[in-house]
Amino acid sequence: MAGEAQPDCLFCKIVAGEIPATVVRETQRTVAFRDINPQAPTHVLVIPKVHYPNAAALAAAEPEITAQLLIEAARVAEDEKIDGHGYRMIFNTGAGAGQTVFHAHLHVLGGVQLREGLV
Ligand code: 5GP
Repeated sequence: MAGEAQPDCLFCKIVAGEIPATVVRETQRTVAFRDINPQAPTHVLVIPKVHYPNAAALAAAEPEITAQLLIEAARVAEDEKIDGHGYRMIFNTGAGAGQTVFHAHLHVLGGVQLREGLV
């Protein structure tokens, strides 16, 4: 069924509590936890509890949850006090864009002066 947990999915295992993560926020439908290999002083991943392989598939099936990821990302930025300076939200979508975990996730990066430009 669409959105169902996948047995081989790392982030489904984090949602289920089978793999530990440093959770910073949680709602009924989302979890935010620290990236294991941070690329900035604050690097948090906001994910839906349901499984979709990327943000585009999630948006097509669950627009409200997709919006909630953005809302939660903004709350993470507030909690981490990186919202004043500015921060970056990134959805890598597809292997060619650097996506390595195929469960939709939103990167929240900040706490440092981020490079200008996108690629
Ligand atoms: P992607 O490259 O798919 O956009 O991002 C996947 C992110 O997941 C990477 O930044 C990577 O460091 C992070 N990651 C991979 N495995 C784990 C893990 O087991 N725990 C946590 N907290 N983050 C992970």
